[in-house]
Amino acid sequence: MLLLASLATVATLLSPVGTPSDTTLGANQSVACGAEPTAAPSVANALRAAVAVHGGAVRWDLRRGAIRLWVQRRPAIAADVSVLGSDWRRAIAVAADAWSDVVPGLAFVIESDSSHADVIVTWERDLQSAAADGDFAFLTAGRTALVPGADGRALAAHVRLAIFAPDGARYSVDDVRAVARHELGHALGLAHHAAPTSVMAPLVRAERLSDDDRATLRALYALPVGARCSLPAQTLGG
Ligand SMILES: [Zn+2]
Repeated sequence: MLLLASLATVATLLSPVGTPSDTTLGANQSVACGAEPTAAPSVANALRAAVAVHGGAVRWDLRRGAIRLWVQRRPAIAADVSVLGSDWRRAIAVAADAWSDVVPGLAFVIESDSSHADVIVTWERDLQSAAADGDFAFLTAGRTALVPGADGRALAAHVRLAIFAPDGARYSVDDVRAVARHELGHALGLAHHAAPTSVMAPLVRAERLSDDDRATLRALYALPVGARCSLPAQTLGG
């Protein structure tokens, strides 16, 4: 399996207003969120990238309960696809389960009404034409937009998954599950991890979360919402 999932498309973090709550730092406050950047793939660099890409730590408030996930039923554009829509929807649920309980209290629940969902997953025939992705655009299999509130709390996320690869071949259920696992990592606030063993590698090969994936998510959710790193952010490649 050789798939490329795009960098998250990220909304700009708005300036915080009002009085921060007990778990929220204003965006002008900073906390140490890792060691000095190094060239080697590491949890510290992955955490730094996650904070840098959003301009601050963006994550869900897990005290609100499970993150409500809505998955589009097979759209008309997939009418000629010889896979049951339910298989793909199940693949998304399995991908979400991979992240559940990595952080205490983190859970996804399938929501039947999109208007009540926190994270929505929709299908597109392909995702090959996004110029913003540069050289790798033609390989993009998924894309995620994560919308932060003014205080850095995640408000919503939209995951778009391609049905067909750029060469016209249909992605398999295994492919869809792997890309969804990666994109849901973005929906949780993660950026890319440079190690090929990470499900957050730009080129998705891993079939299960690595120790670094779990550690990076735990580290992100240990930061105050909206926190910035006190060290210069490492630029993400790929
Ligand atoms: Zn990605």
